[in-house]
Amino acid sequence: MIATANHQETLDAIDEKSEIGGRATAIIVDSQSIDPSFSDFAKEIHERRAGIPIAILADGKITIHGLDGKEPLPVQKALISLANSWRPEDPQVTVSGPADSVKMNEIRGTLERAGFQSDFVAEPTSEPTVKIKGCDPLINPTKTDLLRAFNIISSPTNGMDHRYDLVIIGAGPAGLSAALAACVNVGLSTLVIESNLLGGTATTSINPIDNYLGFPQGISGPRLARLAVQQIRVLNQTDFRLDLRAQCLRKDERNPGRYIIEVSSERGSEDVPLSAGMILLACGLKPRDLPLAKGSHIPDRGVYYSALPCDRYHEKDNSVVIFGGGDSAGRAALLFSKESRVSVVATYGFNRMSLRLQRDLEDARIATYKTHRVAGFVGDHQLSKVILEDVSSAPPRTLPIAATSAYILIGGTPDTKWLCPNQSGRRRGELKIDRDRSGYIKTDIYLRPYGGKLPFETSLPGVFAAGDVRVNSLRRVGQAVGQGVAAVASMERYAIKHPGILDDEDSPAYSWLRH
Ligand SMILES: Cc1cc2nc3c(=O)[nH]c(=O)nc-3n(C[C@H](O)[C@H](O)[C@H](O)COP(=O)(O)OP(=O)(O)OC[C@H]3O[C@@H](n4cnc5c(N)ncnc54)[C@H](O)[C@@H]3O)c2cc1C
Repeated sequence: MIATANHQETLDAIDEKSEIGGRATAIIVDSQSIDPSFSDFAKEIHERRAGIPIAILADGKITIHGLDGKEPLPVQKALISLANSWRPEDPQVTVSGPADSVKMNEIRGTLERAGFQSDFVAEPTSEPTVKIKGCDPLINPTKTDLLRAFNIISSPTNGMDHRYDLVIIGAGPAGLSAALAACVNVGLSTLVIESNLLGGTATTSINPIDNYLGFPQGISGPRLARLAVQQIRVLNQTDFRLDLRAQCLRKDERNPGRYIIEVSSERGSEDVPLSAGMILLACGLKPRDLPLAKGSHIPDRGVYYSALPCDRYHEKDNSVVIFGGGDSAGRAALLFSKESRVSVVATYGFNRMSLRLQRDLEDARIATYKTHRVAGFVGDHQLSKVILEDVSSAPPRTLPIAATSAYILIGGTPDTKWLCPNQSGRRRGELKIDRDRSGYIKTDIYLRPYGGKLPFETSLPGVFAAGDVRVNSLRRVGQAVGQGVAAVASMERYAIKHPGILDDEDSPAYSWLRH
């Protein structure tokens, strides 16, 4: 990689390298290079320097000149991918629209979890609009529209393959670290599917993650995810698909040893089954629900399962009730306490919350309920009250408290029912995976019989699990990252033993692992 100051220096560097047998494979230029002499420069490159492609990075848009329909070389592919994954570190983003609209809140939440800062302009009568400097405004954008605009995900169906060495289900820390290892260490052709946002639950953390190695000041979950995805996309061997939810696994009857993954998407039209030689289940945990009586009414608006820093805008002057006795609940309470009336309901006390946070709650004079449990919610469409019961009195005394919002931050639980079909599902060929009673996926030594499984291998051969969804997990980013890498080491051993599953001759792993 050579840095040059102007067009002439670039041409000289190309000539100098070619004199000693070197060859330039791509030129990357920024907006300042698009001066009046640029067209002569591009002509010179195309006519006399063998058509080296030029990637132009300008005003948030990327154009590639010079490939003229030719298939790019691998190094060019990597550079083009680098160019495509490029955006200014913090593009100038403005979100405008009615301050209290649910859609506005969704947009700001998506941007925040994806790691982008935005300015907000209240425009009570206009539709929610996102303006990114240098791009057309997005009016009432869906989550997928936003992610595409920010180049977080490449176009969906264009050139999308449906056959991979490895399909990773879940793009949290475990799935992302496995994607990187699968590419760098083994060369597997890999698809990562995700039903929500890249980065997993770590992107819902209010505070920076301060226990992950290498970031002395801590790092926000969204930023960590963005860096991870950038790192993977530079290598240009991993496909990502957001808004695809894995629905069930079946055997691939036409290709013994391989699996079919049925998926569903928001759009429906993209629900084409995927074929995988190996699968990694990195699907983490979903937020745990309150233990309400079956059929209890939950209003459409005002009940949430995560709290993000941007939520404080729409909670201004509201009455907020937070359920939970851990650090996440404590941090959310402090976040909202500056501008809203906040109560915290911790039915099992605060012993999972750090002492410092407990002291901060006291200092902020936040109302706490330690002997109360939830009995129900009131509000037809919008939440208006939370009904609590004081379990220290017999019979329990009912206590209604006014609430415009309730945040349920009581931990997570695995969402793995889809891996455990009932009898009718199984007749259609759906496969079942061993789980423990709470739904965590059993792997290797946790399986009975153990049967010589590889580390992280589930009860289905060639299907692995890593991160929070796996039995006995620690629920830490560091552990999820480590398990993703370790699972790929097992996959390498599995692929060597079962070479028939890698039947894609384009995959770099094909010849390497087969011999
Ligand atoms: C509020 C909060 C704060 C935290 N703070 C810290 C901290 O400071 N330090 C720390 O070490 N840990 C922290 N954690 C824990 C940490 O975030 C998790 O341990 C880690 O994210 C687990 O990674 P994972 O990849 O296993 O799963 P996840 O991060 O949960 O990712 C799983 C992904 O799979 C997707 N998925 C699920 N099912 C499907 C399906 N069927 N199809 C497609 N996709 C699917 C989900 O949408 C999700 O994105 C925190 C967690 C929370 C909730």
